[in-house]
Amino acid sequence: MNIILLGPPGAGKGTQARHLVETRDMIQLSTGDMLREAKDSGTEMGRKVAEVMARGDLVTDEIVIGLIREKLEGDSKGGFIFDGFPRTLAQADALAELLQSTGQSLDAVIEMQVDDEALVERITGRYTCANCGEVYHDVTKRPAVDGVCDSCGGTEMKRRADDNEDSLRQRLMEYYKKTSPLIGYYYAKGKLHTVDGLADIDDVRAAIAAVLDA
Ligand code: AMP
Repeated sequence: MNIILLGPPGAGKGTQARHLVETRDMIQLSTGDMLREAKDSGTEMGRKVAEVMARGDLVTDEIVIGLIREKLEGDSKGGFIFDGFPRTLAQADALAELLQSTGQSLDAVIEMQVDDEALVERITGRYTCANCGEVYHDVTKRPAVDGVCDSCGGTEMKRRADDNEDSLRQRLMEYYKKTSPLIGYYYAKGKLHTVDGLADIDDVRAAIAAVLDA
């Protein structure tokens, strides 16, 4: 089963994708994570995209489509979760072609709806475990012991450079201008499902499970 998690920054796509990886043996394909890895490892592409990402702009379609193409050629296990991809209509068309050329298809697009006020709060308080990627929040989801990851015991936590109010404003603008048209695109293809991204994490999990098991 191959699915897209669609929604603005802070909608909870990464959190839900991690859960699906653990429970359904699916593979999370987060172009944001791939770009951050490239940036951290100092590759030429990483250097090229660092400034663009810090501003909250989108990197070129060509770069992200290239990243996804590589991954689709590998093992698909329980299926792919596209997290943060596609973000433009050109990327959506490219994904359809890539899936077709590897004999696969897209089963569902799950739109995670949230309001903008909640996004600012979620994004500016969030941090992750540097070791395993578990997501935490200053107010709503602290680890049981401050500074120690509940999942892996890691003690290094990190915050994203673009999780600040200025970059977030730009990321939201990019979302509304370039990504939100995908909602209509996938509706027209009969693939769109909508869940309330503001509900409790467990309720969102259940809503997504209901779509996948339908
Ligand atoms: P994310 O982790 O999904 O919030 O992505 C972080 C940043 O990486 C975005 O603000 C963009 O600069 C870049 N990015 C991630 N995915 C894409 C994509 N599919 N298309 C263009 N830029 C992307």
